[in-house]
Amino acid sequence: MSKVNRDEIINILDDYDKENITIATLGSHTSLHILKGAKEEGFRTAVVCEKGREVPYKRFNVADEYIMVDKFKDIVNEDVQSQLKDLNSIVVPHGSFVAYAGLDKIENDFYVPMFGNRDILRWESERDLERKLMIESGIRIPNKYKDPEEIDRTVMVKFPGARGGKGYFVASSTEEFHEKIDSMLKRNWIEPEDVKNAHIEEYVSGCNYCIHFFYSALKDEVEVLGMDSRFESNIDGLCRIPAKDQLDIGLDPSYVITGNHPVVMRESLLPQVFDIGDNLVEAAKTLVSPGMNGPFCLQTLCTDDLEIVVFEMSARTDGGSNTFMHASAYSYLMFGEFMSMGRRIAREIKNAINDDKLDVIIT
Ligand code: AMP
Repeated sequence: MSKVNRDEIINILDDYDKENITIATLGSHTSLHILKGAKEEGFRTAVVCEKGREVPYKRFNVADEYIMVDKFKDIVNEDVQSQLKDLNSIVVPHGSFVAYAGLDKIENDFYVPMFGNRDILRWESERDLERKLMIESGIRIPNKYKDPEEIDRTVMVKFPGARGGKGYFVASSTEEFHEKIDSMLKRNWIEPEDVKNAHIEEYVSGCNYCIHFFYSALKDEVEVLGMDSRFESNIDGLCRIPAKDQLDIGLDPSYVITGNHPVVMRESLLPQVFDIGDNLVEAAKTLVSPGMNGPFCLQTLCTDDLEIVVFEMSARTDGGSNTFMHASAYSYLMFGEFMSMGRRIAREIKNAINDDKLDVIIT
């Protein structure tokens, strides 16, 4: 399969009526504030909506156009793409868009102009590429163990495809690693194949901050727009049980994100936050040209040495940006007005249209 041709996308964009652009996205994940923000910036909006899922968009009145599909993945179907194109759409990607459309389709078949760098989506989705980018940027990430025999401290074990925290486990020795693996194999939670591919990393004991950055390619500037922390099941529930009862219950912990809450960091940590964002943006410019473009999120743990350790990256709007559909403490500092991540994306598109630079921020 050959990649969708950038010239083709730019030609489509050139033919668009720039006075009449639609901001479109898949109806899931962070689409409410993407669409709301687009309306606030004066754009027409469209939602590609799975049948039966239209209620929030109607009740919150964020979409001008509805493109109804049987399944989310149909967003890549030719008739849907053609409707999007006819509306002069710029599609804003998010986690569900990437999951349902699929990276191969986005790279090879999806010709509708998209906000951001579509090539970087693979880098955030594949653990080895994500790690390469983080290593290249010189930011502090958890140490990785190539072999369970090397385990010399508490580690977190993650399986491919089990992202989202289901089936993760903590072990403090090689023996414990094998014991837990054996028990998971017996329960058919994992396949023997998965064991080879288990990702073993240093367990970082600290507080969770997910930092929502926006990189403006127009201004070559990194902004911090918000921060959230996660509610995770069942680990959060487990922590509410006294230690002796935890042992009696014998529950296996999991780290499945079920919600987010807004947070702020100690002000003295913010220089570190901006450094991390700047470094990642610089590394991305060389590794996956043209680099970051728009929202990205770093999931971090801050230790009692006040070191911020990054364990995960998204190179598009992250679910935690739903904590500031109006404003966060940081987006207020930055803009002095209500500014969600969705509105910031729309503002960037508006600025690019006004400066005739849409080709800088669209792929
Ligand atoms: P992830 O799927 O990588 O986003 O991780 C889900 C959750 O697992 C995180 O929100 C953390 O609570 C926990 N977690 C992931 N990696 C680590 C780590 N290296 N050390 C401690 N906790 C972690």
